[in-house]
Amino acid sequence: MQRERMVRDTIQARGVHDPRVLQAMRQVPRHLFVPPALRASAYDDTPLPIGHEQTISQPYIVALMSELAEIGHGRCVLEIGTGSGYQTAVLTALGAEVYTLETRPELLEAARRSWSDAGVPPVQFRVGDGRLGWPEAAPFDAILVGAAATSVPPALLEQLHPDGRLVVPVGNDDVQELWVFEPTPWGEHRRRTVCRVLFVPLM
Ligand code: SAH
Repeated sequence: MQRERMVRDTIQARGVHDPRVLQAMRQVPRHLFVPPALRASAYDDTPLPIGHEQTISQPYIVALMSELAEIGHGRCVLEIGTGSGYQTAVLTALGAEVYTLETRPELLEAARRSWSDAGVPPVQFRVGDGRLGWPEAAPFDAILVGAAATSVPPALLEQLHPDGRLVVPVGNDDVQELWVFEPTPWGEHRRRTVCRVLFVPLM
């Protein structure tokens, strides 16, 4: 099956090993989150256009970000940049209670249809600037940012639980790094650089 092959050859092979993440990636039907004309490519290891100059993230990156965020069952997770809604669906498959923010209402509408088609459990969503976070629902056990920030929005670190993790791509159009802020025993977050990445910009 295409999805099984995607998980084995492009996700596991590149070093994502968390069995729960691999299971979630096997479970979510990615083809329901790409435009119908691109469904044949849905399980290729590549981002794909979803309209409005935005893309559905590459499957490996969705898996990697999910692993880095250490999403446990019942964890409260904030996602910035709903896009196609695919990463959102993976987070729910991991048992998270998901809050997701998107600036473009048309994309959020399309994502809602895909969630419904894919049988995704209810998520909290709204149109808004993700850089401000979602203060009423804070603190979050994990925050995942799906677009590249030029610098880490301070509100996101403020809304992170002391034991929580923030996964965020940072950089400009040419050079970006995936950063993870991890909890330390002394209650602060320590930043770690994971790898080079390429995301659309956070507006
Ligand atoms: N992980 C998503 C990828 C989303 S692409 C997926 O797999 O489909 C990034 C998304 O971030 C785009 O939909 C874009 O509209 C949105 N975005 C950009 N800036 C934003 C901001 N400040 N707040 C919320 N969403 C933003």
